[in-house]
Amino acid sequence: MIKFLTRLGAVFGSIWNAIWSVKEDARPPAASKVASSAYTTAFLEDDLNLPKNLNQKVVYIIGVKGNEWLAVLSCPCGCGSKIQLNLLKEEKPFWTWGVNERGAPTLSPSVWRTVGCKSHFFVRAGAIQWCS
Ligand SMILES: [Zn+2]
Repeated sequence: MIKFLTRLGAVFGSIWNAIWSVKEDARPPAASKVASSAYTTAFLEDDLNLPKNLNQKVVYIIGVKGNEWLAVLSCPCGCGSKIQLNLLKEEKPFWTWGVNERGAPTLSPSVWRTVGCKSHFFVRAGAIQWCS
């Protein structure tokens, strides 16, 4: 039984990787510059667990496993704004997210702040790609 589940997990993993790589290929980078240092991902069950001072290089994914509903990050421009992205497909707009084998997050589509610094960027494999 355990063997079966392990195999099932492996099959599901490869299907997921296939879907993910197709999605990545489908999106050509529309970016002008790429930040050098990579973001990592932190998983929190509840947004109450968010630190008061967000780590500048972390994308926080909130929710229980398989039922994540919010992504939170500190604006990469350094303005200190807390950016919250809905991950629930039932509410619009929503973002999809992924984490690669190094724990680096990807968010899709791009993040475009309509207030404050008006930053517009992609988070791809842990790197910020600014849009001009
Ligand atoms: Zn900003």
